This record gives sequence, C-alpha cells and structure tokens, in this order.
Amino acid sequence: MNIHEYQAKELLAKFGVPVPAGYAAMSVEEAVEAAKQLPGPLYVVKAQIHAGGRGKGKFKELGPDAKGGVRLAKTLDEVRAAAADMLGNTLVTVQTGEAGKQVQRLYVTDGVDIAKEFYLAVLVDRGTGRIAMVASTEGGMDIETVAHDTPEKIHTLDIDPATGFMPHHGRAVAAALGLTGDLAKQAANVASKLYAAFLGTDASQIEINPLAVTDDGKLMVLDAKVGFDSNAMFRHKDLAELRDESEEDPAELEASKYDLAYIKLDGNIGCMVNGAGLAMATMDIIKLNGAFPANFLDVGGGASKEKVTAAFKIILSDPAVKGILVNIFGGIMRCDIIADGIIAAAKEVHLSVPLVVRLEGTNVEEGKRILADSGLAIVPANDLGDAARKIVAEVNKAA
Ligand code: ADP
Ligand code: MG
Repeated sequence: MNIHEYQAKELLAKFGVPVPAGYAAMSVEEAVEAAKQLPGPLYVVKAQIHAGGRGKGKFKELGPDAKGGVRLAKTLDEVRAAAADMLGNTLVTVQTGEAGKQVQRLYVTDGVDIAKEFYLAVLVDRGTGRIAMVASTEGGMDIETVAHDTPEKIHTLDIDPATGFMPHHGRAVAAALGLTGDLAKQAANVASKLYAAFLGTDASQIEINPLAVTDDGKLMVLDAKVGFDSNAMFRHKDLAELRDESEEDPAELEASKYDLAYIKLDGNIGCMVNGAGLAMATMDIIKLNGAFPANFLDVGGGASKEKVTAAFKIILSDPAVKGILVNIFGGIMRCDIIADGIIAAAKEVHLSVPLVVRLEGTNVEEGKRILADSGLAIVPANDLGDAARKIVAEVNKAA
C-alpha cells in the first residue's frame, strides 16, 4: 500500500525526520490558506499523486510549454495560479504511463534554498533478506538512470536485524554522501530515524529523493515515497486509513472487495486460477506457448459462484483480454460446484471471448459433464499443457 508525499512527510516527522512545513489542500482556496500559514517568501505547490517524476511531468490539458507538477511560487497569487492549473488536470510523468493521473490533492510546502541534492532509501533487500539502505550523491534525478549510467555512485549497506541500526551504519551513510562534520552527524541522524520509521510502520520502502542540503547547512527531506507491507496493515489501522483508493487500479480495487488476488498484466489471455502457485504455473505455461497472460488471478480456495462471477467480470473489463483460461484444481472445492459457477458466471457476463477450462480433482468427471452439457462454447482441456496450447490457439485463431 502506497501513500501520498504529504502523508509520508507527516509520518516521518513523527519519527523526528526533518521535513519542511507544509499542508495538504483539496481546493484552490485551501491551497492559498495553506500558504498563508507558512512563513514564505518561497512556497512550493506540489501535485499529490502516487507517482514520481512530477517536477518534470506534463499536464495533458495545459500543453507542452506549461510547467509540471512541482511549482515554486513567490506570492499567494502565484500559489493560487499554480493550484488552479493543477487541480482536476491530468499529470503525465515517467511513472504514470501515458494515461497519466488526475490531480485531486495538493501539498503546499515551504520552499527551501537547495545547495545539494542526495538520494537515500530504505528497502527490503530480498537477496540478503535484510533491510538495506541505498545512498547516492546523485539526488533529484531518476535513480534508475543513475544505477544504469554510473552504478559506482550508488552505495548499498545492509543492516543485521540482530543489531539493528548502529552508529557505524550512520557513519557509512554520511561517508557515501561525501559528508563531514555537522552534516555527517545530521545524515547519520536522518538515517537512523528513517530506519526506525521503516521498522515501526512495517514499511516496504521509504525513498527520499531528494534529501537536500540547504544553503544554511541543514539536511531536509524534500520528497518522500513510502509504501507499506499490505500483509502488516492489520496491525496499523491508523496507516490503513491513509489509503487513497482513487490512486489504485480500478480492477485491482474491485478484486480486493471480493478477496480475489488480482494483478493486471500486459498480455491478452485472462487467467482464472485457484491457488497462487498454480496461478504462477499457469502464467508460465502460457508464456511457454508463446503468448502472454493478461493478469494474475487467484480466486482462492473457497471460490463461490459469486467470486467466480466477480472474477470473470474483472477479467473481461480489461479490453486487452482476447481469451480466458480457467485452471482449477478441485481439492476441498469440488469440480462440479466449480463447473456450475463457471456456467452461471459465463451466462451472466455474456462471455464474448473463447474460454478454455481445465478442471482436475474431486468429482472431475461430473464437472466435465456439466460443462459439456451446458451448451456454452467452452473448450475443455485435460491438463495444464493441453489447456495452454488450446487457449493460445483459440486466441490466435480469433486474431
Ligand atoms: P518528483 O520527484 O515527483 O519530481 P520532488 O518533490 O522530488 O518531485 O520535486 C522535484 C524537485 O523540485 C526536487 O528535486 C527539488 O529540486 C524541487 N523541490 C521539491 N520540493 C522543494 C522545496 N520544498 N523547496 C525547494 N525545492 C523543492
Ligand atoms: Mg522526487
């Protein structure tokens, strides 16, 4: 689960991380009121979307010469103009994809005079199974570009969970950023607070870009991207409330309401599978046959007719889907019940693309007979390989 920059900064501030003052705003008037509470003379009006690259982004409605989603303002009138420009308009950045994201919230924050910009992130390193800190002197730019062009400028250190964050970790971060004296102390302090915030919130990622040195020698977090481990949200009710559903993929949101694990992908074969492992195997075997899955979808163990129907609707709501492969292993769940569910769902949603069904497990013969007798154009398959070959053939035939 991701949150907005302003939410991330409010959270980090509670852990003692230095951030400039700022207020969220949902309207132009609120933005002006927010600015009035700041000392000035420089304000920054920032579009709040769950994507980076806002500064260099472009608004669809404003033409190529207009400024992006992070704007400096020197007067309240400039704050008003910037807010009016952004709210309700669609910001396209390197991270949003072509469709962009509509800006519904703003953050009005203190403008600081920047001497230097760094990059500092805390994340889970799956390789070492530890929390890692990533530091770079190349802040304020796309870190993927830095990693690609000048990998030597990225320093990673992992933190032994048995010791937690130690003073030497702080010194290593400061050294990686090339800092000495008081700024080195500040960097060590920021790093230790970020680590505490990461642990305390069950975060999966905290990315600060930029971490700025101001003209008067202070280290400040100017941008923060924070994501949490969704599986830990049950013990952070206060954080769960920060969720902004308008930022999520509508199909994934709908799926979460039915407790379906659904992730949209780029291919054209919709998959409906029970069990995450089988879902992964199904996607693999589709690829093995030269096509690409349109989604990952695990309907879970107790797939009811309602769940199967919801799953079909979600799969079909993706215009890229040109065929559906249902791959169900009936264990506790019986194949005949699943067959009934598939037929009911297929009738309800007026299935418009080829459907290949592979059933295996308890009452499989009964399940197959129900499907065969349904009168629906369902292509039965015998095993995983057969199913994948058939759905790829069906989709190619239709193309
Ligand atoms: P994004 O990464 O989405 O483009 P950032 O918050 O990093 O958005 O802003 C882009 C750039 O704008 C920063 O690298 C920084 O140079 C400048 N900036 C952001 N916030 C401030 C601020 N409070 N004061 C001065 N400059 C800022
Ligand atoms: Mg940034």
